[in-house]
Amino acid sequence: MDTFLKAGQSCVQAVQQALAHVDHNQHLNVFIEVFADEAMARARELDQKVAIDPSSAGRLFGAIVSIKDVIAYRGHELTAASKMLEGYHSLFSATAVERILAEDAIIIGRTNCDEFAMGSDNRTSIYGATKNAIDEERVPGGSSGGAAVSVQIDACHVALASDTGGSVRQPASFCGVIGFKPSYGRISRHGLIAYGSSFDQIGLIGTDHEQIWEVYNVMQGQDGHDSTLVARQDFPHSESKDRPLRIGYLQAALEHSALQKEVKEGIQRVQSALQDKGHELVPLELEHFDYVIPAYYVLTSAEASSNLSRYDGVRYGHRASNAKSLDDLYTLSRTSGFGDEVKRRILLGTFVLSYGYYDAFYAKAQKVRRLIKESLETMFEQVDLIILPTAPGVAWPLDHEMTPVEVYLADIYSVLANLAGIPAISMPVGEDSAGMPYGIQCLGASFEEKQLIEMCGKLFAERQTKVT
Ligand code: GLN
Repeated sequence: MDTFLKAGQSCVQAVQQALAHVDHNQHLNVFIEVFADEAMARARELDQKVAIDPSSAGRLFGAIVSIKDVIAYRGHELTAASKMLEGYHSLFSATAVERILAEDAIIIGRTNCDEFAMGSDNRTSIYGATKNAIDEERVPGGSSGGAAVSVQIDACHVALASDTGGSVRQPASFCGVIGFKPSYGRISRHGLIAYGSSFDQIGLIGTDHEQIWEVYNVMQGQDGHDSTLVARQDFPHSESKDRPLRIGYLQAALEHSALQKEVKEGIQRVQSALQDKGHELVPLELEHFDYVIPAYYVLTSAEASSNLSRYDGVRYGHRASNAKSLDDLYTLSRTSGFGDEVKRRILLGTFVLSYGYYDAFYAKAQKVRRLIKESLETMFEQVDLIILPTAPGVAWPLDHEMTPVEVYLADIYSVLANLAGIPAISMPVGEDSAGMPYGIQCLGASFEEKQLIEMCGKLFAERQTKVT
């Protein structure tokens, strides 16, 4: 019970405080919708329930949670920050949402994000960009920018978001908080709007690794609605590691030309500090590192082009009003409903799947993915975890012009974990000279979430600072 609430604090007090932070930070454009009355009513109900029977408190009693606008919550609007889904209200809740509600969490609102979770800075949202609370002239990262800032401003304990190629970890790094993506197959994707289905995973952002663990643990596990979930509920090798660790690092990642000097120096300082504490640093070579971005964007765009074909103007949300035929209806609805970045991905995805190009792009990218997965698996036979930067630099200015390819290349460090399906966390470890934070990313072996979170908690706990 005391994992979330402060000593003596009631749910009502905690929600009041969170809502005050929301009010105070309206200008940051964090929430698309705040469920203020609903959250207060639920807080009162939970307080009453526990006053009558203290033993009835659920495992997440008092946990205030924000949800990204790609996660379904029954009876609430769900738009993926796209005109295409404006006005759509979900008829069911995501399994993850149902599970946290069953354990007495309180949902405070729906957070802003890039359209259909495609982007790295929250600038593709139809609701406009979210601003970074540390420097309001800068992006919060993306696609889960609103989620990261909702944690930054103390509007919730934990934010639920999605991570297809770094969308939980990169904004966490840009905002100075923790971002955790579990292994593929741990948390049900039922009720998560699909982008790249073989990559998508619900992840969590917070400031306290124990709170993240609690919420994660409630959400994970098999669910009849998602056949890709693993059967194992256990965390097999999760004995607490007090011995010195073998920590791998990727040479190619640190030597990459995209890595900003101050971030590189910061990561190197962290590595020396770990060595001084008695851990062993093991240099590793990932042969296919140069291909991670092309492989990721070919595969996720292919999957997106297929997943987004369901938005046809007939079944969901936006429908063009001036169509004269069925074909017209599809074309006009999709043309006016999707933003430029989403269209770019659909076109790219359709191209790489088309006859004559399939083998050259899609099939080749699948092979690269397999090689990367196998290389990482071999590495985890030698090391306990692998560290690398979360992103090549800090949050960029809101008005900084970038080409799509420049934005894609900035995902160089985060897509690895999604290609391999392994768990990964970004822990805040430093700031550059302008005071902008950056994180270090820790990758763990498949399904070893518990061990990974515990190790990161021990290695980097002292850096868990809040910005208010
Ligand atoms: N920036 C990446 C992309 O646009 C990651 C997005 C995500 O993880 N949802 O694909």
